[in-house]
Amino acid sequence: MRDLHDRSVVADTHNDLLDAIVHRPVEAWVPHFRERWLPQLRAGGVNLQVLPVFIDDAYRPEGALRQTLRMIEAAHRIAEVDEVRLCHDGTAIDAALADDRIALVLALESAPGVGEDVELLETLFRLGVRVASLAHFGRTALADGSGEDASGSRLTRAGVAAVAEMERLGMMFDVSHLGVAGVEHVLELATRPVIATHSSARALRDHHRNLTDEQLRGIAANGGVVCVNFFAPFLHESDFRIERLVDHIEHIAGVMGIRHVGLGPDFVKEVLADVTPPCCETQFIEGVPTDRFLPGLEGPAGLPLVTEALLERGWPDDDIALVLGANVLDLFRAELGKPKH
Ligand SMILES: [Zn+2]
Repeated sequence: MRDLHDRSVVADTHNDLLDAIVHRPVEAWVPHFRERWLPQLRAGGVNLQVLPVFIDDAYRPEGALRQTLRMIEAAHRIAEVDEVRLCHDGTAIDAALADDRIALVLALESAPGVGEDVELLETLFRLGVRVASLAHFGRTALADGSGEDASGSRLTRAGVAAVAEMERLGMMFDVSHLGVAGVEHVLELATRPVIATHSSARALRDHHRNLTDEQLRGIAANGGVVCVNFFAPFLHESDFRIERLVDHIEHIAGVMGIRHVGLGPDFVKEVLADVTPPCCETQFIEGVPTDRFLPGLEGPAGLPLVTEALLERGWPDDDIALVLGANVLDLFRAELGKPKH
């Protein structure tokens, strides 16, 4: 089992570890990554790590761009650690993997720092950002998050311009968090494949953060990849075993085809513990408890358990390797950082 896991490319398309890092004093950023996160990534066999820049509401709107830049600076600083490398395209990812480095890819989880100034996406692209979503749970100047589904809102004019600008640059569009009408709108507009960096199946767990079968089929037709979120309350109302995660992986593979599935674990346990003041523990986010996790899969070190669980379900090695990371790697090779021609 471990052998299959270790020889496969393992890609995690959503870990908010930059949030935990920038919550510390600047001089602790690199040591914290090296001492706390790197060993976990290595234990989990992670080869490719997407690092979202997520801006807490407290910074919005005035401080959002400044905090975005601080987090990008943190990513560049941790990328100076020997074992990792910040990658801007598939060629750089392949080179990093060949050197046994963990390839880091910078992303935006919502873009409150951009506001309606879509030209700033190119500025952020110049700084290394290669994936972006346009909303979190709520409304932004570009789009509505899935928490606003009752609004029925499509993208704003600036959001439409953002899609075109991202396609021009080679910055991948991330549909995770986007509302239902927004996803539909993006799929109408998109001429390049999109990604869902951390989303599970709504057919198995009716929460607005999950994707319906119709959305999954739309993303498959677009050539995109959906990376399954491990956050336990998004998988099942009360059964927080790893089998429920495998149910979502199997469902999404069944609806979309095996080439369209990846892993977007969203390991929030440690990040939430780090960024939440002890006085004010958050108990619920969007109606679900924040203290329920899949046993053993609370952090990246548990990732080999996914391989083990898929083997137990009788999955062939080749299909497991696709889901662990080969699908995401192929998508990034084809799309990441490649200008539209
Ligand atoms: Zn998220």
